[in-house]
Amino acid sequence: MRTILLIFLHVSLSIGLDSSPSLGPNVEQLSPIYYTNKTSEPRNYQSSAIQNYNVEIPNEPYTIGFQYHNYEQMTKFLRATTSRFPTLTALYSIGKSVQGRDLWVMVVSASPYEHMIGKPDVKYVANMHGNEAISRELMLHLIHHLVMSYSSDPYIRWLLDNTRIHILPSMNPDGFEVAKEGTCDGGQGRYNARGFDLNRNFPDYFKQNNKRTQPETDAVKEWISKIQFVLSGSLHGGALVASYPFDNTPNSLFQNYAAPSLTPDDDVFKHLALIYATNHAKMSRGVACKSSTPGFKQGITNGAAWYPLTGGMQDFNYVWYGCMEVTLEVSCCKYPPAQEIPRYWEDNKMSLIKFLSEAHRGVHGFVMDEGGSPIEKVSLKIKARDIGFQTTRYGEFWRILLPGMYKLEVYADGFVPREIEFMVVNDHPTLLNVTLYPAKYGVMYPKPVTSPSKSMIAPVPPPPSDVDITFPQD
Ligand SMILES: [Zn+2]
Repeated sequence: MRTILLIFLHVSLSIGLDSSPSLGPNVEQLSPIYYTNKTSEPRNYQSSAIQNYNVEIPNEPYTIGFQYHNYEQMTKFLRATTSRFPTLTALYSIGKSVQGRDLWVMVVSASPYEHMIGKPDVKYVANMHGNEAISRELMLHLIHHLVMSYSSDPYIRWLLDNTRIHILPSMNPDGFEVAKEGTCDGGQGRYNARGFDLNRNFPDYFKQNNKRTQPETDAVKEWISKIQFVLSGSLHGGALVASYPFDNTPNSLFQNYAAPSLTPDDDVFKHLALIYATNHAKMSRGVACKSSTPGFKQGITNGAAWYPLTGGMQDFNYVWYGCMEVTLEVSCCKYPPAQEIPRYWEDNKMSLIKFLSEAHRGVHGFVMDEGGSPIEKVSLKIKARDIGFQTTRYGEFWRILLPGMYKLEVYADGFVPREIEFMVVNDHPTLLNVTLYPAKYGVMYPKPVTSPSKSMIAPVPPPPSDVDITFPQD
C-alpha cells in the first residue's frame, strides 16, 4: 500500500510536469498566449465573457485613495485604470468565485496584451484569505504606482518594458465581503463562501489532499497552466515574514514539527525571501508580532519550519510548474483600520517592486532545432536541482539562479539530450540558446529525473486530510 502510494505520488508529479492531466485541459489546449500573437490571454479570457472589461470610462478622475475597496469599488478602480492607461494595462478575469464575483487580473506592462518573446511573466496573488485585507489594497496601490511612475521613474520603466506583471488583487472576493475592518485575528472571511481554506486546496506533492477543489483554486490552477510564470508572490496577513517552500514535509504531522523542508533551490528561495524582507521597512528585523508568536531571523522562514501545511499554493507553483513562489506575510494585523493603509503601502512598496525584478536574475534562453525553429515543452532542469521546468511555445525558458557554475540538462522526445555548462553572474542574466539535434531512428534516451528524489518522501502514511489540526493561520 505504502509502495503504491509512493509510486502514485511520483507518477502524478511526473505527469503533472508533462501535461498536467489533473489540472483539466492540457497546456497546449489552454495556451492562447503562446499561439497567434493576437490572441493573448486578456483577450482570450474576455472572449467568452459578455462584456468588454477594458472599457473606456470618460472624464473620470484617476485616483485610488487610502480606503478599502469592496468588490464593486475594486472593479471600478481596475476599469478606470485600463481606461486611463490602455497601453500599459489590460484587465481580464480568470474565473468566478463561488458567489459569482470575477477573479480579476490586471496586467501591467509595456505589452499588456501580448507576451513579449524572451521576457518573463510574473505574478502577485493577494487576499486568498479574504480577511487578510491589507494585501488586497497593496496590490491596488502597486497597480496605481506602476502606471503613474512609468513615464517618470526609469526603474519602473525598465521593469514594465521587460516584464509582464499579472496582479490578482483578490483570489477570495467572497471572503473579503464578510470580513470586518479592524479585525486583526480570527477566521471570519478567511474561507471561501463554501468554507474552504484556499491555501489548503491545491494538489500536494507530499501528501494526498482530499479537499474538494474550489472554483477559486481551479481558476488559479488553469491560469498557471496557461501562462508560464517565472516568479510569484502570494500575499497574506497575520504575520510579518517571507516564507518559502516547501510548506509541506514528508514527515508525519506530529514528528519533527518544526523541521525545515528544503527544496533543491533553497539558496534561490532564501535569496528571494531576503529581497522582500530587506527591502521592507521592518520585516528583516524579525520582531515577533506578539509575545505568543515566533520572531523570524532576518524576517524569513522555510514554510514547513514555521508550520507544515498540506495543499498550499506555493509548493504547487514550484513543483508543478517550476514557478518560484514565495508567501509574503505583510502585516501583523490581518485587516487594520483604513487610516493605517498609507503606512503599510510605504513599508511594502520597495519590496514589492524589487521582488519582481528578481525574475531577471539567472539564466534564460531558447531551445531550437537545427533549422532554428523553437521546440515546445522541452524538459529542462538544472543538474542536481530535481525540480523540472519546460520551454514555452516559443522555445523560451527561464530559471532564477544565484551567481555560479551550473549544468542545464535538456531533454525532448526525438532529440539527442544535451547537458550544457553555463555561468551565472550577478549583474545581468545569462542568455543561453540551445540547439537540439534529432535522435537516430529507433534510439531511445532515458528521460532525466525532474522531481525531488524519492528519499525525500519518508515512508509514513499521510495524515487523515479531513482532520483540521489547529495550527497558526496566517
Ligand atoms: Zn493567509
